[in-house]
Amino acid sequence: MPVSDPGSSQRNATRAVRVGNVAIGAGAPLSVQSMCATKTRDVDATAAQTRLLADAGAALVRVAVDNSRDAEALAELRGRVDVALVVDLQEHYRLAREVAPHVDKLRYNPGHLHHHERKRSIADKVAELADIAGEHDCALRVGVNCGSVAPEYDEAHPRDSVGAMVACAIDHCELLDKRGFENFVVSLKDSDPKKVVEANQRFAAERPDVPLHLGVTEAGLLPQGEIKTRVAFEQLISRGIGDTIRVSLTLPNDRKHEEVTIGHQILRDIEAGRFRSVPDLSGLNIISCPSCSRVENSAFVELAEQVRDLTGYASQYDVTIAVMGCRVNGPGETDDADLGLWCGPRHVNLKRGSEKLGAFGYDEVLVRVRSELDSLIAEKSKGA
Ligand code: SF4
Repeated sequence: MPVSDPGSSQRNATRAVRVGNVAIGAGAPLSVQSMCATKTRDVDATAAQTRLLADAGAALVRVAVDNSRDAEALAELRGRVDVALVVDLQEHYRLAREVAPHVDKLRYNPGHLHHHERKRSIADKVAELADIAGEHDCALRVGVNCGSVAPEYDEAHPRDSVGAMVACAIDHCELLDKRGFENFVVSLKDSDPKKVVEANQRFAAERPDVPLHLGVTEAGLLPQGEIKTRVAFEQLISRGIGDTIRVSLTLPNDRKHEEVTIGHQILRDIEAGRFRSVPDLSGLNIISCPSCSRVENSAFVELAEQVRDLTGYASQYDVTIAVMGCRVNGPGETDDADLGLWCGPRHVNLKRGSEKLGAFGYDEVLVRVRSELDSLIAEKSKGA
């Protein structure tokens, strides 16, 4: 299994975490991982994509579960692929017991634990996840994400989204420590590479023992998505921070493995000292999600590309446009954007700042995007 090892002598002394037969932390070579965008219950498609990712060099492959059918499909998938399997519990931490026997790692998002069983404490839910993982020899990832930080941390850290993410991650480490569970890693992801660097540095200063999974979430389309990811990884890995990586790109299913080949290339470049000069990321910023099993219309990737092409004329303006693949996470993940689009089966929802503008057909939304962008630019030019 191909792995890269940039600057192993300078890596932080994190503890060892074991995910199936993959070692993370404690100086183990940095592993590259990726995620399937297929419906997990479509076992043929998911097994094929898992193999594609593994063949490209993914040491770990993540799949999502949304319901019991997905959970049941994992048993069959386990028998058909030979790679460390990770399951993303999303809001469905209650499926952990069903899926744990078939996977090597469970990822939970602390910001998604309050959606169900609201009377139960977060500490109690984390303890249960730790116990299930321990019983089935699974690792855990505490996956903190900028778009879904638990509300109490946002309230406690106004105007400091990085502080909110770090505080949340530290608290969850302590909950797992108290339960006596050590086989876990942490990730702190944002779509802004600068925030990814700051969050991971601040976390590593407080918990140098905990291995870190690095990623720039919703980095988007090529080539900008790769550039944003490189910027963050160069700055972190060269400082010894990071034990496993994922490159999150918006790609069609048959090119999903490029996340892995690009991840390895970034690691090789850092190892060889081939650093790109840090590009100026001011100006138009298009973020788009890497897609996953929740995408309801495969036209999403094409739409993201069309938005990029349509808006090229505005490259010098500081405007952020977010294009997301689903109706579950789309509304929240577009909150910080000037224009936000998220996809449903037949319609694309559009908002400008916090104002919802409506749902448009895939063939009509671009016209509205163009007119809203023109009006945003006019406003900015007036204020300049
Ligand atoms: Fe998946 Fe939706 Fe997140 Fe895109 S925004 S990666 S489709 S959950």
